[in-house]
Amino acid sequence: MKIIQNLVKQKLEEKVKAEKSYKLNVMVKTSVPVIIGDTKIFPGEKKLIELSISGIYTQSPISIPVHVINGKKDGPVLLIIAGIHGDEINGIEIIRRLLRSSKFKNLNGTLIAIPIINIYGFISLSRYLPDRRDLNRSFPGSEKGSLASRLANMLMSEIIVKCTHVIDLHTGAIHRSNLPHVRANLENKNTKKIAKSFSLPIILDNKSIDGSLRQACDELNIPLILYEGGEALRFDELSIRAGVKGIRNVMHYLDMLPTRTTKKASSILPKIGKSSKWTRAPTSGIFHPMKQLGEQVEKGESIGIIVNPFGTEETSIISLTSGIIIGRNNIPMVNEGDALFHIVSFKDTSSISPKIEVLEELGPYISGPLFDIQTTK
Ligand SMILES: [Zn+2]
Repeated sequence: MKIIQNLVKQKLEEKVKAEKSYKLNVMVKTSVPVIIGDTKIFPGEKKLIELSISGIYTQSPISIPVHVINGKKDGPVLLIIAGIHGDEINGIEIIRRLLRSSKFKNLNGTLIAIPIINIYGFISLSRYLPDRRDLNRSFPGSEKGSLASRLANMLMSEIIVKCTHVIDLHTGAIHRSNLPHVRANLENKNTKKIAKSFSLPIILDNKSIDGSLRQACDELNIPLILYEGGEALRFDELSIRAGVKGIRNVMHYLDMLPTRTTKKASSILPKIGKSSKWTRAPTSGIFHPMKQLGEQVEKGESIGIIVNPFGTEETSIISLTSGIIIGRNNIPMVNEGDALFHIVSFKDTSSISPKIEVLEELGPYISGPLFDIQTTK
């Protein structure tokens, strides 16, 4: 018995030691200023920088606002970036709420926050850039390439190379909602640490897409996690709250914010999904879902129907896989083949607790006080 106790103790000590050495490794000296564009941000300073990028054909100048808070003490350089897809706006609100925190007075390391990087798409309510390219397929980019490629290159050279960690904020595409969850490549153990510390019920462990910011960061060995929650062109309160909380959890984990003394750290143990699949419309018609985000479904189960709007026929939508719904179509008018339910699967389905658990775990984000309507004045 004693031997087992000692072994457990030894394992725990080794784990704490490894965590400490990791955190020391990612510490950046703040005795030198952070330089972005032509602006220097010295330790203890907070600045909003307007990073100039190519203007549009009306000759209107365009710039990207970048918040930088440089702490007085050494620590990681964490980038929170939103709006790589210009119509995914939850991240703007997540960053706005995050930056109101008074805790950053005692920040260790540096926080860089970009509420909207694809400012062109934001203006035109579009996911894409004016050249119809997807910025998240254009990394690492090049100085002489397309508009998307130039923007990607500017982000890489001005910001990313100066960071030790990145959190990339996204939502579902237009007419599609995502359950708040984290996506990351867990093969990188440092990425895994921050993915887990975000403390949401589900992590989708998948490889990065070619040309994505995730892939560019993988190549530089900079841990990046992607946060998904909500729908394009809409604010979703649950996703905004879960995003703010998750970022704070990561900052506590990285010792950028003081260790919590009063409140207990989040007790959520994320379930790691190894693959995900869309169940598509078997026919065209009007879509009625029978399952919501976060619900568990079984392969072969009927999870919705498609009806003929001018008749009485109904067609069942059968789930192609077992798992938890992390994405769902919101528009009733669908054509055959349209993506309806995005379901994440787990290697060992028995490790999934009863279906309601994911929603219960997310419950506190909704029942909390409405801090969103408070103003700073
Ligand atoms: Zn996106």
